[in-house]
Amino acid sequence: MEYYKLNSLYIEVTHACNQHCRHCYLDGGIHHKNAEMTTDQIKKIFSEFKAQGGRYVIFTGGEPLMRSDMFELLDCLEALHLRFTFASNSFGMNKERLERLASYRGLEEYFTSILGADAEKHKAIAGKDSFDAALNAIRFFDKKGIPTFVQVTLANDYIEDMENILKLFVDFQNCSVKITPIASLGCKSAEEKELNKDLIVPKERFDYFHEKLDALCEKYPNCVGDDNVLTHEQIEESIAEYSEHPLYSLCYGSVCVRPNGDLSFSYNMINPITFGKAYESIKIPMDEKFFDYIGLLKKADEKVLADSEKTAVEYDTEIDRYINSVLG
Ligand code: SF4
Repeated sequence: MEYYKLNSLYIEVTHACNQHCRHCYLDGGIHHKNAEMTTDQIKKIFSEFKAQGGRYVIFTGGEPLMRSDMFELLDCLEALHLRFTFASNSFGMNKERLERLASYRGLEEYFTSILGADAEKHKAIAGKDSFDAALNAIRFFDKKGIPTFVQVTLANDYIEDMENILKLFVDFQNCSVKITPIASLGCKSAEEKELNKDLIVPKERFDYFHEKLDALCEKYPNCVGDDNVLTHEQIEESIAEYSEHPLYSLCYGSVCVRPNGDLSFSYNMINPITFGKAYESIKIPMDEKFFDYIGLLKKADEKVLADSEKTAVEYDTEIDRYINSVLG
């Protein structure tokens, strides 16, 4: 049997979280206690990933700090000489934890999130007073020369605040920001979707969002990066880059391992495709199911490309929507 080789691994070590963001696709909170992998299962995944040629790990949650064995897991990555991004909402960070994280040679990037232009606006979305902790963590890593990446998941009401949000980061040397409008509420129940629907940036506003973001990219070229809202030309470019590759749909994603050990090839949380249990083996057989999935992703790309002729689209959400319309 031939296997797909993985370069990068996106691992959600828990779905538990100390925040409760209104838009969270995981319905973040402390109630996620079930079906989590043990320390040894995760270590085994890291070893197998390394053995089959893996190089890079995105270590994320939920909130990884919710696991008491978090540093033991990071020690394991370090011993295997795997480089990694560490993603945290920063709420549980303190000086000792920051210092320990910064001491890893493998730490390539610290990933965190800011959800509003000031502490109050951030708290209105995050549900917790974590604004200062996030900025403090960014400042800490910036001083050490370790790159930080800030995800701004933007509520509809905050579109006019984009510049004020960006201004928080312009003085940092190693910080880049990605602003993604909230386009979907992922796995939430119908009730919760209804309660939170004011957060969603409607499709009709994507072009406006895009124009504003383009202007900010020009004004702050070293700070603000790509977002998920793409124009027709941008999607065409990204597909063209990989189109000669037989597995091109997977080239800009990486394998994702969920806390219960399920494997899939997408970051998208409502993707119903799984490839068995990661804690049994990290290898993905290149069988019929695998190629069917690649075919499905290629079709999703074509559909999203066609839709983008009319208006800019939120890429991940549209891909999800297509996959779910086919698989139900
Ligand atoms: S920090 Fe992330 S996992 Fe936690 S509630 Fe917010 S979006 Fe969900």
